[in-house]
Amino acid sequence: MWRRKRILVTGGAGFLGSHLCERLLEEGNDVLCVDNFFTGTKDNIVHLLDKPHFELMRHDVTFPLYLEVDEIYNLACPASPIHYQHDPVQTTKTSVHGAINMLGLAKRVGAKIFQASTSEVYGDPEVHPQTEDYRGNVNPIGPRACYDEGKRCAETLFFDYHRQHELEIKVARIFNTYGPRMHPQDGRVVSNFIIQALQGEDITIYGNGEQTRSFCFYTDLIEGFIRLMATDKSVSGPMNLGNPYEITIRELAERVIEMTGAKSKLIFKDLPADDPLQRKPDITFARNTLGWEPTVTLEAGLGSTIDYFRNLIAQHG
Ligand code: NAD
Ligand code: UDP
Repeated sequence: MWRRKRILVTGGAGFLGSHLCERLLEEGNDVLCVDNFFTGTKDNIVHLLDKPHFELMRHDVTFPLYLEVDEIYNLACPASPIHYQHDPVQTTKTSVHGAINMLGLAKRVGAKIFQASTSEVYGDPEVHPQTEDYRGNVNPIGPRACYDEGKRCAETLFFDYHRQHELEIKVARIFNTYGPRMHPQDGRVVSNFIIQALQGEDITIYGNGEQTRSFCFYTDLIEGFIRLMATDKSVSGPMNLGNPYEITIRELAERVIEMTGAKSKLIFKDLPADDPLQRKPDITFARNTLGWEPTVTLEAGLGSTIDYFRNLIAQHG
């Protein structure tokens, strides 16, 4: 007999998690959002709270969770350097204990489980663009290690549960993604630059601005999540998901100034320790396996993100 799929989204009140919950509800699923509201907020999901197939639970994934679900998307973890470095021990615990708890849950109920891993597993990469077989260049004792090594260890756990307990896993390595509902104070480059420009402040470039990133709009990424989760058992990943369009941070600042019509100047600050100099996904694997590739241009994505922050500032100052 047909019944709705019961899907757990950890970190569901965050930027990506809230968009994912929305998409899963639209597809007719029963969605359980679990979050401890460290970086996420009820505002991101308030419009879902009166939907009968949406449920919200305040819970920290470093503690075990017992419930019955068919699928799990494990997104719980602060993603911006400011937030994940605020309490680095908790960040590692969230990635590692969180993975153990969610994998344990998946094993008990026989659920399929998705892990939101990251391009940070490649560290400051010597291979460009990054392919999934590149093993990375991570400093295990630096300020980013709590996040990078936590996520690497989570990947290890996912693959060990897969080999040892035959769990069906889907591991996505997400590259920089942006869009509406990013936390305005999380210090990530897209939100920082847009907010600075809209408020007429100087734009803070760390280092000389020649470092590169490749920015994916959230709608493209969520589509990749859904397609990866729908693959058959033989596909576990890890799979890069991101937009291969690469840009320097300086160029990004100039685009934001141009698009907002701001008078902001560029000011240069120290480059944080271990800040990767280049990053661009090779998405051949995703293209071939999912028939997926990003469709939203940087210009269109920035336009809608600028509109979002403009409204937010108008409402809250
Ligand atoms: P986010 O900070 O907006 O969302 C993370 C969510 O997890 C928040 O709602 C937060 O409150 C919650 N959370 C944190 N610790 C928790 C805990 N111990 N228990 C329960 N909930 C907890 O960040 P995001 O950009 O939406 O990222 C979501 C996931 O995607 C993260 O795992 C992140 O590492 C990964 N990721 C994101 C990007 C990106 O560019 N946005 C890139 C690579 C990987
Ligand atoms: N960055 C910057 N100014 C800012 C915020 C970030 O120049 O106000 C730089 C940062 O040093 C990095 C890049 O932008 O080189 C992307 O930073 P973000 O924190 O968004 O993501 P990540 O470093 O994790 O890719």
